[in-house]
Amino acid sequence: MLSVKDLSIAYKVGSNDVVAVSNSGFDVPKGTIVGLVGESGCGKTTMARALTRVIADNARIAGGEIAFDGQDLAALPEAKMNALRWRDISFIPQSAMNSLDPVYRVEYQIMEVLRDRGGMTRRAARARAAELFEMVGIDKGRLRDFPHQFSGGMRQRAAIALALALNPKLVVADEPVTALDVIIQRQILDQLRTLQRELGLSVIMVTHDISVVAYTCDRTVVMYAGKVVEDCDTATLLNRPLHPYTMGLKNAFPDLKSAGSGVLTPIAGSPPDLADPPDGCRFAARCPFAAELCRSTEPAPLEVEKGHIVACHRASEAAQLRLEASKPQTWEAMA
Ligand code: SF4
Repeated sequence: MLSVKDLSIAYKVGSNDVVAVSNSGFDVPKGTIVGLVGESGCGKTTMARALTRVIADNARIAGGEIAFDGQDLAALPEAKMNALRWRDISFIPQSAMNSLDPVYRVEYQIMEVLRDRGGMTRRAARARAAELFEMVGIDKGRLRDFPHQFSGGMRQRAAIALALALNPKLVVADEPVTALDVIIQRQILDQLRTLQRELGLSVIMVTHDISVVAYTCDRTVVMYAGKVVEDCDTATLLNRPLHPYTMGLKNAFPDLKSAGSGVLTPIAGSPPDLADPPDGCRFAARCPFAAELCRSTEPAPLEVEKGHIVACHRASEAAQLRLEASKPQTWEAMA
């Protein structure tokens, strides 16, 4: 469905280029949910937005390819890209208030997309809006409400309805449940997963929360400091992570199924300044397993097992590192 290869995205900051995404890639097979996970500033949102080519004015795609349906989105003229938005690729933002206009009734906003982008008549658009509301579990009698009359969960469901309006092939969801409490998070994720299966959608789920990918995604791509550091099917990633950052992320988030119970161990420190990234592995300053080679030479992403890509010099020792990483004191020693 989608194949991102060697993508680099740079922001112009003053007279400098800050490369927020650097030579990174991943694939989204048809009909799957792929999680893009990492902490704030790792480049996941920049990467996701680049897929729809809705990036900040001071950002540019500095290299690479976004192959979608036989076309390279990175090189597509804006008019052609615009024609793909909503119809082929749509976007669910983090806060539904970013996609719903507070001064218009929700029905009007959905119908506007259906009529302007889908060419539907008023009557057909009204019927489709009601159908979409039923699909996402909102009573169609609420279509005439304004966004402020909805709860946070309902607003997010309405944003999902809006994204699905024209039957896109690919939906990019940017932290779609971050602003919601854990019970509503589960309901929305269950709904998204059900719709994804029923409609055969491909979804990219951008999140900082590894428990969200554990609950929802078929494959997971872990990003750190602008680079993909691990990429494989979610079950393997959670049971046998090969990258120390993934091991640390697992300890840092509660399990959605246990509704937030359990002891959490954070990864001490913060990601490097991307205006001046370090030599060697970008995670070395926070990694309890960093060796001399890690500080001098950047590890290249390698497919070490079929479908399991990792960028770590010590990936061959992962079984031992996982044992160490499961102990809180391993991470506390880095604080
Ligand atoms: S390359 Fe070295 S510093 Fe980087 S994650 Fe692997 S062990 Fe840690």
